[in-house]
Amino acid sequence: MKTIGLIGGMSWESSLEYYRIINEEVKNQLGGLHSAKCILYSVDFEEIERYQVEGNWESAGERLGEAAQSLEKAGAEIIVLCTNTMHKVIGFIEEKVNLPVIHIADATAVQIQKANINTVGLLGTRYTMEQDFYKSRIESKRIKVLIPNAEDREVINNVIYEELCLGEIRESSKQYYQKVIQRLVDEGAEGIILGCTEIGLLVKQKDSEVPLFDTTVIHATESVNKALER
Ligand code: GLU
Repeated sequence: MKTIGLIGGMSWESSLEYYRIINEEVKNQLGGLHSAKCILYSVDFEEIERYQVEGNWESAGERLGEAAQSLEKAGAEIIVLCTNTMHKVIGFIEEKVNLPVIHIADATAVQIQKANINTVGLLGTRYTMEQDFYKSRIESKRIKVLIPNAEDREVINNVIYEELCLGEIRESSKQYYQKVIQRLVDEGAEGIILGCTEIGLLVKQKDSEVPLFDTTVIHATESVNKALER
């Protein structure tokens, strides 16, 4: 079993989920008392979020690159960046380490293809929904990506930073997300990417009539598959 290096803290609410899912999946696959070999480097999210707001992606990338280097020195053999948004700067991480970095959008696209879905709706931070770094990665696999309208994007984004990343789960926000999902389905989405690692804390499969692709579950599971590969 390889040692998984997790760059977490963005937010720690979802890093907890990664830790739980990774251990459950190792137990699932190996049985007995098996658990994951992993190292967590958890950043101060306030610092990273400030860089996001300033558009200072270079400093954010350097910070995460240093985190990856620390993980490599500590013995990590695979790097997992526990956030969709910060995949915008994955290049900084790949430059700093000699380890495979598992891309969250690539792992998600594979699951969408397996489900035979051609058009998906994407929910995430405004950076993930509006910029190209994430959508283009999914679309390069010949999957069409729909995003919510401007007003919905703002609410979706604000719920992430003002509630979910602070551990607040509100019924009213869940209902709003459900309405946005329905609007995307009406526009042709056959499935929805929960493209932010905290959304799975709010919306579950039972809340949607179309398949949900929870990037936290997909990414954590794929990292275990890679760690157990021979
Ligand atoms: N965890 C979130 C994501 O998956 C948002 C926090 C962040 O900005 O990294 O995009």
